[in-house]
Amino acid sequence: MDAMVARYLISYPCQDACGTVETDERVDGAPVYRCPGCDSEWFELHERTVAAPGPSDPQRGSAPTAP
Ligand SMILES: [Zn+2]
Repeated sequence: MDAMVARYLISYPCQDACGTVETDERVDGAPVYRCPGCDSEWFELHERTVAAPGPSDPQRGSAPTAP
């Protein structure tokens, strides 16, 4: 059960108790949230849209190299 796992960037004791404000920041495509009360910042792991960076995309960059 790891559907609602939050990764804290800045963690203060309130732990989400003050409120949630969505910021313009993104981490791997997931919106970064901020607590307006204590400035904690976090994002939800399940909201990431970018997988871990890997090698080149197999569907791109396949242009043949000229001899
Ligand atoms: Zn707070």
